[in-house]
Amino acid sequence: MLHFIDVILPIPVENLFTYEITEAEAGFIKPGMRVAVPFGKSKVYTAIVKRLHQNPPQIYEAKQIHQILDEYPIVTDTQLKLWDWMANYYLCTVGDVMRAALPNAFILESETLISKNNNKVIQDSDLKDDEFLIYEALHHQSSLRIQDIVDIVDKKQVFPIIKRLLEKEAIVVEEEVFEKYKPKLVKYVKLQAQHTTQDGLQALLEELSRAPKQRDVVMSLFQLSAKTKKAIKVSELTEASGASSSIIKSLIDKAILEEYFIQTDRVEFNGKDSEDSKALNPEQEEALFQIKKTFETHQVTLLHGVTSSGKTEVYVKLIEDALKSEKQVLYLLPEIALTTQLVNRLQSYFGEQVTVFHSKYSAHERVEVWNNVLTNSPKAKVILGARSSIFLPFRSLGLIIVDEEHEQSFKQFDPAPRYHARDTAIVLAHLHGTKTLLGSATPSLESYFNVKQGKYGLVEITKRYNNVLMPDIELVDIKDKQKRKLMKGHFSDRLIEAMTETLEEGHQIILFQNRRGFSPIVECNTCGHSPQCPNCDVSLTFHSYRNQLRCHYCGHHTAMLLKCQACGDPGLDTKGFGTEQIEEEVKHLFPNYKVGRMDLDTTRGKYGYEKIITAFEQQEMDILVGTQMLTKGLDFRNVALVGIMNADNLLNFPDFRAHERSYQLLSQVSGRAGRTEKQGKVLIQTYNPYHNILQQVSTNNYEAMYKEQMDERYNFKYPPVYRLIRVTLKHKDFNRVNNASIWLGTALRQVFGDYVLGPVDPPVSRIRNQFHKNIMIKIPQKQSLGGTKKAIVKINNSFMNVKDFRSVRLIMNVDAY
Ligand code: ADP
Ligand code: ZN
Repeated sequence: MLHFIDVILPIPVENLFTYEITEAEAGFIKPGMRVAVPFGKSKVYTAIVKRLHQNPPQIYEAKQIHQILDEYPIVTDTQLKLWDWMANYYLCTVGDVMRAALPNAFILESETLISKNNNKVIQDSDLKDDEFLIYEALHHQSSLRIQDIVDIVDKKQVFPIIKRLLEKEAIVVEEEVFEKYKPKLVKYVKLQAQHTTQDGLQALLEELSRAPKQRDVVMSLFQLSAKTKKAIKVSELTEASGASSSIIKSLIDKAILEEYFIQTDRVEFNGKDSEDSKALNPEQEEALFQIKKTFETHQVTLLHGVTSSGKTEVYVKLIEDALKSEKQVLYLLPEIALTTQLVNRLQSYFGEQVTVFHSKYSAHERVEVWNNVLTNSPKAKVILGARSSIFLPFRSLGLIIVDEEHEQSFKQFDPAPRYHARDTAIVLAHLHGTKTLLGSATPSLESYFNVKQGKYGLVEITKRYNNVLMPDIELVDIKDKQKRKLMKGHFSDRLIEAMTETLEEGHQIILFQNRRGFSPIVECNTCGHSPQCPNCDVSLTFHSYRNQLRCHYCGHHTAMLLKCQACGDPGLDTKGFGTEQIEEEVKHLFPNYKVGRMDLDTTRGKYGYEKIITAFEQQEMDILVGTQMLTKGLDFRNVALVGIMNADNLLNFPDFRAHERSYQLLSQVSGRAGRTEKQGKVLIQTYNPYHNILQQVSTNNYEAMYKEQMDERYNFKYPPVYRLIRVTLKHKDFNRVNNASIWLGTALRQVFGDYVLGPVDPPVSRIRNQFHKNIMIKIPQKQSLGGTKKAIVKINNSFMNVKDFRSVRLIMNVDAY
């Protein structure tokens, strides 16, 4: 009897491919294992076995596989089901999903580069002969291709050898290895408590009268604290007093001064004992109870809790329950919120059981996490991860938490699969027979709509933990301020006043500006021309730090121009403003304070965010200027004021979600203010203080925002009332893409009528020299999604049969953002 397998190839082809296997192989192979297979004329691919059967393919003659790469399945049955769902729902191929799901190191291809792992010392005696030959060769040559390795060991079957070398960490596959980042701990000093009273200080100074140098140090410290009202660094004290560090040390030894680190309340996981989780307050207790109750009747529950209401501690209790029943937990977060803050907090409760997974991990780290999750290792019980962690090979999930569920970064934009991690997580939970908890202070309209329709349960926490007041939000009318000449640059007198007060009290400030760079656009004062990107249909952005003009779409950059390219006039001016410009202005307004900046430009690299966050936490900066990165669930104790430089550029963004997003962003940034002590203050500068969204933000009125926005979504037939599929066509020849989009629009309209919009030019209609056209398909709730998609696929197929259109790229984005 002949045996065959259907396999998934990591390429965008519609069908599964069938290969022939031997009787012996058939006894060994299981779905979910990898096999190396020949494809086309000379390619070799890693494929995943989908099923075994005895039916030869009709159209072609089945080739034989090269070899089996695994001893046991590395992809579970549940995953294979999820992949099918994703391909089907998001209109892509299973190969697209496979490529996104598997760590790169699992997909060995003919082109894969192998190099020596320089971070690990390998003894020759640890290597088998074949392995040694390869390892030895890597001493002479920095990298090898699979074919080179085939030549070296003179065998066809090299994958098992490579796999063993990977397991021994002797080699790496096409990957940089990053250094591990440890937050730098800054030393602070203070007087021991008994010396801080008036009498205590007096007594101390007398006691030290015969040690004048030590006395001077104590005096300096006292003056510094009185002046800055902030924690004093050892380095500042050394500088102010002129004393040597040995004098300071002797004061510490005498128990007059005390050294400390600001991070002390964050428990570093030390591999041994862990902390008990916190006792919940009555609101949290009630929320926990309600969540469990709604889970009895619902697959999904939304926890709508205001910022700093202590949602995380509620999650912790649910995680404890799941762990007690030997289950795994997936805790999904937007990439940016995955900071040391949260990781340390969870590690303090769950110790070694916590595994973190995000996109900046190296191939090695990814494989390690994959294997730990697959084997249900005690090290991978709680998986804290960004979007792509929904792809991990969970054995037995007992709960999925999607925190900050409203975040649009959960939606993958490019490449396919263009999935939404929140929605996919819900399907994944379903496949595991378990529940999903969504959490947010500002839920997406999608989720709240599902609540209103009875699909999701709803649980609310309306108070901040410890009854800390919600921040006091004040709207500042900058049109009026401008008229009365009360603006300095982009700062109103009101904002400067509040900043001065906050700084004098020794508190920190966050300034939010929704754009990075110095100033988005450079414009000629004479002819109005602004420099454009040669590859994209956008103006270039000025970055003063490098004195460059940059394109935010394709990365193109040139030196800042000295005169206008159109008319030659040297009067180039900057219009609008970004984070860099705000930073500059703050430096001029508050020269005695430290300013930091957090945006895409300052947070590159694996630990980019952490470095800035840690520095701000440790009060190395007084003012932090940033983009929306600042909104993501950060918990800074000492921030008393949040300033929003300009709310209008958020509100006026040309997108049907702009108002919803403005509400979410502004509420989230505001939520960073006053999380512990006194009530925080938020100042929102705007030209339009009567805008409904701003009124709703300042009164924390989510319901009003929801109602008003939903009316618009009903009226204009947008999600969540209608589903949206966006088709993007791309080509470097404008006429071709134009004709193709007209053809496609007409064909779609014949089936879907008025529910088809376009073709239209997107706001940026040329990117990297490719012209774009968009077509939107709106799907009413009653209409079957499956049927609709079938019709679309059929139209696409006829589209591809038009010779002229074959080179046009067609991109489907289901539930587009
Ligand atoms: P959210 O996620 O809702 O914004 P957090 O879970 O970050 O809120 O909680 C806000 C702050 O309150 C954190 O500093 C947290 O440690 C503290 N907190 C919350 N719940 C408790 C509790 N039950 N006991 C002690 N501290 C708590
Ligand atoms: Zn560009």
